[in-house]
Amino acid sequence: MLKIAIQAKGRLNEDSMALLADAGIQVAPSKRKLVAQASGFPIQVLYLRDDDIPQAVAMGVADVGIVGLNEIAEKDEDVTVVRKLGFGACRISLAVPRDVDYTGLEWFNGKRVATSYPHILEEYFREHQIVADIHEVKGSVEIAPAVDLADAIFDIVSSGSTLVQNSLKEVEQVFFSEAALIATNKLTLMKAPLVEKLVFRFESIVNSRGMKYVLMNIPREKVDEAAALCPGMHSPTVLPLAEAGWASLHVVVRECELWEKIEKLKELGAEDILVLSLENMIK
Ligand code: ATP
Ligand code: MG
Repeated sequence: MLKIAIQAKGRLNEDSMALLADAGIQVAPSKRKLVAQASGFPIQVLYLRDDDIPQAVAMGVADVGIVGLNEIAEKDEDVTVVRKLGFGACRISLAVPRDVDYTGLEWFNGKRVATSYPHILEEYFREHQIVADIHEVKGSVEIAPAVDLADAIFDIVSSGSTLVQNSLKEVEQVFFSEAALIATNKLTLMKAPLVEKLVFRFESIVNSRGMKYVLMNIPREKVDEAAALCPGMHSPTVLPLAEAGWASLHVVVRECELWEKIEKLKELGAEDILVLSLENMIK
C-alpha cells in the first residue's frame, strides 16, 4: 500500500484531486480527515498542509507527494523530484514600493526584505553578492513595506494584482514554480513498482493535457505534406476513403497550435476537419 501526501485545502488541492481522479484513483475529499483510503489503486491519501509535505515525504511518512517546487526548494528536504505536473504555476519575485527608483539588484544592499521564503532568497542574494536583511514572516508579506516592517518583499506572484493593490512593483523574477510529484528516498523495494505504475499514469495524463485529436479528409497527394505539419505521436494514421484520390488523416495536435495548424491544413486542401478532445495518451 502506497501513501501519497497532497494539500488538504488550498490552491493545489483541487488539481491534485483531479489528477488522482484522472489516474483512476477514487478518494473521498479531505473534510477534516487526515487519511483517506482510495479505490482503484492500492493507495492511501494523506491530507497535509503544503509546507509539511516535503518533510513527510523525506521521513517516509508518505512515499510520494504533490507539492509546489517553491516549497521543495525552501524546505530543502531529502526527496526526489520525479516530475513536474503542469499546474500550480507561479513565480517568487522581489517587489519594491511603486515609487522607488529601482536601478538594479544592488538596490537591495542594506535593505530589509520580508518573505516566507528566506532560504531561497538567501541563496539568491548570496549568488549575486547582495547583503540584505531578510525578515521571515509567515503571512501577509505584501503589507510589510506599508507598515514599515520592510523596504521590499520577496513573495509569490501569479497575476500580479496583489502587488498592484499594495502599491508594489515586481522588479526581479527569481524562482519559477509549478506543482511536482516528489518521492521519498526511503522507498522500500516492495513499493517501488507501485510508484512506477503511479508515475506512468500521471505521465500519460500530463502529456495528453492540452492535446487534441484531429481528423480530416484530404487529397491523397497532400498526405505527406500534412503529416509533416503534424508529426503526432508515432506517425499519423492514414485511411483510404471510398472516393478515389482522397484519404482520412488522423493526427494529434497541441491545443495552443491548433488554429495555426488547421489554417495550414485547409490551405493544403483538408476538408471536414473534426477536432476531438483527447482523454489520455499512453505511450
Ligand atoms: P497550506 O495551508 O497548505 O499551508 P498555503 O496557504 O501555504 O496552504 P496556498 O496559497 O494554498 O498555500 O498555495 C499552495 C501552493 O500553490 C503554493 O506553495 C504555490 O506552489 C502554488 N501557487 C500557485 N499560484 C499561487 C499564488 N498565486 N499564490 C500562492 N501560491 C500559489
Ligand atoms: Mg503553506
